Amino acid sequence: MSATRRLVILGATGTVGVQTLRILEQAESPLEVVALSAHDRAEELASLAGALGSVSTYLTSDLDQHDALLDFLRQGDYELCLNAVVGAAGLPYSEATLAAGCDLALANKESLVLAGELLTRLARATGAAILPVDSEHAAIHQCLLGADPTAIRRLYLTASGGALRDLPIRELAEVSPERALDHPNWEMGPRITIDSATMMNKALEVIEACHLFHVPAEQVQVLVHRQSVIHSMVEFVDGSMLAQMGPPDMAFPILYALHYPERRPAPLQGFDPALFSTLTLEEIDPERYPALALGFEAVRRGGVAGAVLNAADEVAVEAFLAGDLRFLEITELCASVLRSIPEDFPAHTMDDVLAADTWARAQAREALSALQA
Ligand code: MG
Repeated sequence: MSATRRLVILGATGTVGVQTLRILEQAESPLEVVALSAHDRAEELASLAGALGSVSTYLTSDLDQHDALLDFLRQGDYELCLNAVVGAAGLPYSEATLAAGCDLALANKESLVLAGELLTRLARATGAAILPVDSEHAAIHQCLLGADPTAIRRLYLTASGGALRDLPIRELAEVSPERALDHPNWEMGPRITIDSATMMNKALEVIEACHLFHVPAEQVQVLVHRQSVIHSMVEFVDGSMLAQMGPPDMAFPILYALHYPERRPAPLQGFDPALFSTLTLEEIDPERYPALALGFEAVRRGGVAGAVLNAADEVAVEAFLAGDLRFLEITELCASVLRSIPEDFPAHTMDDVLAADTWARAQAREALSALQA
């Protein structure tokens, strides 16, 4: 019987948060939930907490509760924190968790996109683990178990291609938000679904992978894999490949990260020969997915480039969903903000990263109003 580990769930009312609570029930997990947070869905948070018994709750749209949550995380009275907050807002919680030396199950990829270098350094210093909840990175984490890092030749991230993968390229310009939100394989929140259609999500995942697995951009390649069954692959120096596979269901990477290094039995839909009978891999068409190159560009630039790319994309996707920006303009706007970073923008501290985030949002809004003028 495993010892009880205390778990904090941030972003509890979101897709990943709700799914996590469901899995914990089904898997008879030894994890004990001690705190939940949500941004502003007070009623849903109260109802999730009510089902658990005694847990602390934090509504982080309230600044006092946001500060109280940071204090709680820094005190370290828990073993594991699942950060499933959406967007750059998740970064301070990741930092507080790792600073306390507690393990971080990370569904908030923005933390690493914004401050990968600072966070991985902090984790090394305090001995905390960063366990990816992103399906691709959870796959690579599993493929690398027991592997010598110098034996890695290449990481292959797979991408579904998103909701518009078969739309003629000339029609992309006029795509509506409803159409771009209709993802073929994964059920996810609106921002990540749009990011999946542009492939900005994969661009951010390239940055995330370089930080998590300490590889340069040259050692990462992205492939379109329509079935979302191969979650990612590692090629080793001897040419041998390892792939991690499973149904496209976030329950698997969540279950893995929460209980690592243990594997828990869970009543999830597992191997089904019909699902696995046809698996395809295709090279990326850069004309269809110009956003992907921005991820590689951001890794090569380093510094605050990840933070800037993410912030520009958050603003652009919001504008697209509101009908204020056209689909192809999401990537154009992100590219123009990324390429306008001043040479001497500092990138030494978390404050520098947050300043870059603020700067990029202002740049993106300015570019947006210029487009609308
Ligand atoms: Mg992913």
